[in-house]
Amino acid sequence: MQEAALYEQLGEGAVRCNVCPRRCVVKPDGRGHCEVRVNRGGKMHTLIYGKCSSVAADPIEKKPVFHYCPGTMVFSIGTLGCNFRCIHCQNWQIAHASPTLGAEELTDLSPEDTVLAAQRYRCQGVAWTYNEPTIWFEYILDTAQMCKQNDLYTVMVTNGYITPEALDELGPYMDVFRVDLKGWDKETYRRLANVPDPEPVRAATVRAKKKWNMHVEVVTNVVPTISDDDEQLRKIAEWIVAELGPDTPWHVTRFIPYLELSDLEPTPTATLEHARRIGLDAGLNFVYLGNVPGHEGENTYCSNCGRLVIDRIGFSIAGINVTKGACGFCGQDLGIVSCDDEKTSTGEDFFTRDLD
Ligand code: SF4
Repeated sequence: MQEAALYEQLGEGAVRCNVCPRRCVVKPDGRGHCEVRVNRGGKMHTLIYGKCSSVAADPIEKKPVFHYCPGTMVFSIGTLGCNFRCIHCQNWQIAHASPTLGAEELTDLSPEDTVLAAQRYRCQGVAWTYNEPTIWFEYILDTAQMCKQNDLYTVMVTNGYITPEALDELGPYMDVFRVDLKGWDKETYRRLANVPDPEPVRAATVRAKKKWNMHVEVVTNVVPTISDDDEQLRKIAEWIVAELGPDTPWHVTRFIPYLELSDLEPTPTATLEHARRIGLDAGLNFVYLGNVPGHEGENTYCSNCGRLVIDRIGFSIAGINVTKGACGFCGQDLGIVSCDDEKTSTGEDFFTRDLD
């Protein structure tokens, strides 16, 4: 058990955690909302430093991240716990778990181990994913610093519920902020995640982009009857255009019935196509469908000439024609970060077909 960062001592042995906007006040022997930060003897400690529940080498497309080092593998790790309690969480076995239960099933991975494993599995980056990385703050910070010393890129797949001071510590070492925006209004966040206000999520996302120049991609899981109305989708899209820029990828993904929302149907493809149209009409250049393998909405089309520049099948890339982040046909800057910064192309014949 390691002493935590970013906490303050209050009276009578209590501490306040300042890692996420819940800013839990924890009495002696108590623990925070996320279950992984505890007060021992008037000091905050983390129970999960270097404790991994899930480890895999994934395509970065699986995060999903489409415009950062496309086609590369990223060493992906997660732990236990979360600062949200989403009623449809796909990873509830780890996100809703406490590290005092099943701790023997956790794998110890130091920052050095993580970098070595990423290199051994020929990954070009490390992603903190599967559960909320913010609550793993100390470990992520140490590991991200080591990644930068070893030329590995860094990705946090996050709900965005992080304080400015925590984000500012990570900022110099984090390349990608892949954030969920579950809806627009307070009621949606309250119903889905038991979070009173999504404004801190939006503020952190803007801070990641504008203060720290992180590459940002936004995901909205479109939940029927809760977050599938035109008004919320339009507000999200307009906000992305205004605050993050029109080249920011927005992934609208299919909801899969789970946990307390098992009675809902999966999001119809037509609803996702409609959401994509809302995003494009709002001025976004790249709106992707998620959890619909084989749909053309997985592909990247040039925002200028309209031609196919990245052809995807699920998480795999079938063909790519991007040169230093720009369209390989017309040279339009697409805002795609290319790992090798050189022409990335597969096959001369692949892109001969025109697309409407
Ligand atoms: S990280 Fe955990 S303990 Fe800290 S404020 Fe958030 S929920 Fe509370």
